Amino acid sequence: MDFTALKTALEGRGYRVSVFSTGKEAADYLDCEIDGETVGFGGSMTLRTLGLYDKLLTHNTVLWHSRRTGELERRHDMRKAMTADVYLSSVNGIAETGEIVNIDGIGNRVSGTLFGHKRVYFVVGRNKVAPTLAAAIDRARNVAAPKNAARLGKRTPCVVDGRCHDCSSPDRICRELAILWQMPMEGNYEIVLIDEDLGF
Ligand code: SF4
Repeated sequence: MDFTALKTALEGRGYRVSVFSTGKEAADYLDCEIDGETVGFGGSMTLRTLGLYDKLLTHNTVLWHSRRTGELERRHDMRKAMTADVYLSSVNGIAETGEIVNIDGIGNRVSGTLFGHKRVYFVVGRNKVAPTLAAAIDRARNVAAPKNAARLGKRTPCVVDGRCHDCSSPDRICRELAILWQMPMEGNYEIVLIDEDLGF
């Protein structure tokens, strides 16, 4: 995929951007960049696929609720991740015009991507790219969220037909929507673009 337009748009909105052909190259890069720090992870199939938790854990303190089984441990890691030196997440959609879109249920991931860290990395496979902000939001609502609801075993209408119904189900996983129009003030953000399909 040609990331030229997206890279230019993101740089224009204040982000650093790195581009990799494979997830392995991106994971190796992040493994070098992040060393001796506390690291918080948002829920992400992309991060899971890249094996970043196990890589970084060998030389960092890594907080990821997805790797905890007990409810208390999950809550502990979610809270501690909010103040980690470094925060990693993927996105649900990214517009070629440079806006970044994430939907969340609990809110830990969108919170973690907005404030509180020395550095934030968004790790993004090519399948997350949409031509416009409207298309990126549509992707988040009608592609990423239904797949995540199915993965999590939720009883929501989107699991049946793969489309969002703006449901009022108790199982609804879409409760917050964050759009980053620009890099947050005083932030240090890098967008890691990968020419592979990763996550939802
Ligand atoms: S709002 Fe409900 S129907 Fe729509 S994607 Fe989220 S969980 Fe599914």
